[in-house]
Amino acid sequence: MNMIERSYEQLKFIDKPEKKLVEIIFLDHFYFNIDYDELEILGNFKVEKGNFLFERKETKFDHIIDRGFSDLKSRITGKKVIYVHKNSNIPLIGNGSFGIVDRGTNVIEIKPVCGCNIDCVYCSVDENRRGVDFVVEKDYLVDELEKVVAIKKHPVEIHIGCQGEPLLYSPLVELIRGCSNISNVKKISIDTNVTLLNEKRIDDMIEAGLTQFNSSLNSLDKNRSIKIANSKYNIDHVEKMIRYISTKPVTQVIAPVWVQSLNDEDIEPIIELCKETNSICGIQNYLSYSLGKNAGKSITMENFYDKLKILEKKHDIKLIISLKDDFGIVPDAPIPRIFKKGDVINVEIVSPGRMGNEMIGIAEGRSISIYDNKKEINKKIGKIIPVKIIRSKHNIYAGEPV
Ligand code: SF4
Repeated sequence: MNMIERSYEQLKFIDKPEKKLVEIIFLDHFYFNIDYDELEILGNFKVEKGNFLFERKETKFDHIIDRGFSDLKSRITGKKVIYVHKNSNIPLIGNGSFGIVDRGTNVIEIKPVCGCNIDCVYCSVDENRRGVDFVVEKDYLVDELEKVVAIKKHPVEIHIGCQGEPLLYSPLVELIRGCSNISNVKKISIDTNVTLLNEKRIDDMIEAGLTQFNSSLNSLDKNRSIKIANSKYNIDHVEKMIRYISTKPVTQVIAPVWVQSLNDEDIEPIIELCKETNSICGIQNYLSYSLGKNAGKSITMENFYDKLKILEKKHDIKLIISLKDDFGIVPDAPIPRIFKKGDVINVEIVSPGRMGNEMIGIAEGRSISIYDNKKEINKKIGKIIPVKIIRSKHNIYAGEPV
């Protein structure tokens, strides 16, 4: 019998007869399940080569798929995932975890995805304290980004810097291409932990318009690199990819986080690797953040720069980097600030946020993180409530119910 195929560009179907369900994979790293019971109502079906086939024409399958997205989860982190798309009613400006962040310079940060495949002991975004990930529709992100780029007076750099690893965003190459097609975008950079790169992906990203890799590398020692990544980690692969990038016509910044007493003996070998691969050496000082991980004691920036000055002399390399002189980052027209601290506004609650006590609200085209330790607003999705703005910086807004 001829069956009717239902295929979707971004979805792959996997039959799980032992569990009596079909698993639907979205953008490679996300999934939700649909029980046989729900599908059998629509008629006989089968799953073949990742596609879904029905015996007869039906009209309710799309509705079931749409509903399934409310149960979206990450295959990497196991967390609940919110898909932010054009029709989701969630603005891309206002939240530091997803979307677009404009800090009033000619660099615009974009965050297409949250979540990481490793678990660095020093991570400033302690994923274990965040229960929800976000993933953003590529076209929505590019369209909204274009509006922000249009405000800028200088040539613009788009910086792909996620709360997590951007290589977990499967349309990454298309996203880079979309960014590079925006007029006045002159540079596109990415922060990556390198683990998920391979030669083809590197080539594809460069061909799409990527101009700079900021490659995270904290140790060249096998055991210590695993200890720092706190996960399965293949330093040989990471080093190989860093060396491969260095053969390409792009800038590479090798960016170790120097955690005192943890990777002291790794910093000098990394400096030598930077020299050998003609990479910029962007050593960062480990600073502990209230919502990050505690990897040990931090030192002051003054103390840190003193150490860098000594290493600069010893290795004859520039280690103290100037954002303006080395990366051409300058102040530029910001997107308008809509709310200021202390404002009381009406906000519609639309989804959970990353933290357990956080919900995402929307008002006047901005997303607002609303924190409520009593979690009473968690039950108010769809409701409009009064919120007092407690933080308004770089168009990232936080508030609390009043
Ligand atoms: S790679 Fe980056 S985001 Fe991932 S755990 Fe390490 S520091 Fe955090």
